[in-house]
Amino acid sequence: MKKYIKKNLSNKYPTKDITLDDKKNKLPLSTSKKSKKVIDIGNGITFGLKQIPIIAGPNGVESQKLMEDVAKCLVKNKIKIIRGHAYKPLTFPYRSAKYKESKSQGMDIMDKIKKNFGLKVVTEITEIRYLDRVCKTADILQIGSRNMQNLELLRECALTKKPLILKRHFGASLRDMLGAAEHILVEGNSKLILCERGVSIPHTHRDTSRFALDIQAIPALKELTNFPIISDPSHASFWAPWVPSLTLASIAAGCDGLILEIHKNPKKSAVDPLQPLNFRDFTKLLKTSRSVAKSIGKKI
Ligand code: PEP
Ligand code: MN
Repeated sequence: MKKYIKKNLSNKYPTKDITLDDKKNKLPLSTSKKSKKVIDIGNGITFGLKQIPIIAGPNGVESQKLMEDVAKCLVKNKIKIIRGHAYKPLTFPYRSAKYKESKSQGMDIMDKIKKNFGLKVVTEITEIRYLDRVCKTADILQIGSRNMQNLELLRECALTKKPLILKRHFGASLRDMLGAAEHILVEGNSKLILCERGVSIPHTHRDTSRFALDIQAIPALKELTNFPIISDPSHASFWAPWVPSLTLASIAAGCDGLILEIHKNPKKSAVDPLQPLNFRDFTKLLKTSRSVAKSIGKKI
C-alpha cells in the first residue's frame, strides 16, 4: 500500500468529478488502462469479454423451495449465476413478520442449490463478522450500495481474494465510487466488478421508484476504467414493468453483465414485491436481451 502513498496529496482542491491529477495520484489502480480486466468466475463465465453474464434471483433467500424454483428457471434459460441474500440491510429497522434474514440457514440453502444445480452464487456481505460463513458458499461477494464506503468492510472483502461486486451508492459520484474501488485494489484484489444500480434524482417518474438508472454512468465508467461494469435495472427502478427497457438500454450502453431480481410469485416477495420479474417475463426478456446483445457483437 505504501508504494501508492505519494507526498503532497493534500485535498486542497477537492473536485466533484475525476481530474487528471486524481487519475495519476489518487486512482492509479482503478483508472489504469494498461490491461483489459477480465474476471473469470469459472464454469465458462467471464465478465469483461463479449459475454454478458446475468445474475438473477430473488432479493432474499426466503426458502429452499423458492431457491429451487428460481434455480430451475435459470437452468432452463441457460443462466449460470443465482443471487439471493441471506444477510440484508433494510431501510427501516422494523421487519415484517414475513421477512427474516435467513443468515447462516440461508447460506446452507445456497450451498445445496450450488451443488444440485451447478450454479455460481452471488450474495451480499453486510458485516465483517459474517465473512467466514458467506465465503464458504459465495463465488462472488456483493458489497451493497449502502456499504460502498464502508472502508473496513471493503478491505476485509478484498483480503478474501474472492471476486467482488461493488455497487455504487445512490448518491455517490463516479469519483467516490472509484475511490472506494481503489481501497479494494490497493489490497491486491483486482477481481472487481463495478455495478450501476440507480441514483437519487429529484424526480423518479413514479412515486414507488426511489432511484433512476444512470445509463450514462456505463459509458462514463468505461471511459475511466477497464474493470467490468454491470447494471442492476431492478434496484434502480423498483418497478418490474420498467425493467425490460432498462435492461435492453444497459446492454446497448455497453454493460458487461446484469443483475435482475426475479421471483416465482413477485406479489409474495417478502421484500420489494413491485420489483422482481416473474419467470415468464424474465424468460421473455432474455430472448430480446439475447438479440440486442447479438446486434452489438456480444453474447448472453
Ligand atoms: C440488492 O442487491 O438486493 C440490493 C438491495 O442492492 P442495493 O445495495 O443496490 O440496494
Ligand atoms: Mn433487493
